[in-house]
Amino acid sequence: MSLKALANCTYSDLESLVSNLGQPVFRAKQIMEWVFKHYELDPDRMLNLPLKLREELKSKLICMSSEIKEVSKASDKTTKLLISLSDDEAIEMVIIPSHQRITFCLSTQVGCPVGCRFCASGEGGLVRNLKAHEIIEQLYHGIAHSGKFPDNIVFMGIGEGLLNFDNLAEALEKITEADHIGMSPRRITISSSGYVPGIYRLIELGKPFILAVSLHAVDDETRSEIIPGKLRYPIAEILQACDDYENKIGRMVTFEYTMLAGVNDSAAAAEKLAAMARGHHAKVNLIPCNETSEEFKRPAEIDILNFRDILEKTGVTVMLRLEKGGKVAAACGQLRVKHLKKTADND
Ligand code: SF4
Repeated sequence: MSLKALANCTYSDLESLVSNLGQPVFRAKQIMEWVFKHYELDPDRMLNLPLKLREELKSKLICMSSEIKEVSKASDKTTKLLISLSDDEAIEMVIIPSHQRITFCLSTQVGCPVGCRFCASGEGGLVRNLKAHEIIEQLYHGIAHSGKFPDNIVFMGIGEGLLNFDNLAEALEKITEADHIGMSPRRITISSSGYVPGIYRLIELGKPFILAVSLHAVDDETRSEIIPGKLRYPIAEILQACDDYENKIGRMVTFEYTMLAGVNDSAAAAEKLAAMARGHHAKVNLIPCNETSEEFKRPAEIDILNFRDILEKTGVTVMLRLEKGGKVAAACGQLRVKHLKKTADND
């Protein structure tokens, strides 16, 4: 029988575990407090538990299955953690400080099956889905490394989270339920490449998460150059799903738009994006391309600002993502790809 992970345990799981171990049930509450209030997954540090129980927890549960393998810090204090998993696969999480706030960017898969052509994570395709506890453990690594609980969590790291829906939903439940970590869903952003069936499953959860959808283009033809694979949905279906999300969940959707020089950064594209954003009551997040290959270039600063101005002049709320962590390979998956290449070179 496979072991249950401590980060996924419910109170009743822990209650039956401690009872089976001949311990009083109040021990379950103490363990819950360590895990979900003090963000501690190492039984050796749960000092109010008897030594024997700490040892038994280590043998009966997966306590911390992953470890920080490498840390890269940029001059703006954005920190990227390369996290090694129990099967030696690697993922990334990023700690992004900004204006007294701290945001954690978490991964949901090892590799990614969507294969956006500007993205390092999609280069090798999907290796496997992350388990729920592996998603949650990234939060614990971030807290241990930064010494802070995040103000916001964004699922914008490696992977298309909505294609790993069950495990993502289980992790979200533990992160948001009051008797577990208890973070407000309003401070959690789920980013998707526009995987429409996943957006409808997210609606079924009924929680006010922020949905960020990666449009990257205003017409299907251009979009197919950027996201060439079978997992790309037509823009019209994505926009319908966004409307349904806002109507049912009551939260404005964000359109993510990675700007690629000469591909999607024209004034005409900006006008069309502005009309889409207004028509679907969405905000726009402009992300100048972080160059990971020869294929795509970041637009000139002037073109980026002109594009933003066209959107803003029509009353659209635009966020222009200041590049955080470019020097630490912060575009999703770059640090992992660097690690894979290093491993391959040493073989
Ligand atoms: S941008 Fe996101 S969805 Fe696209 S390949 Fe990269 S990780 Fe996957």
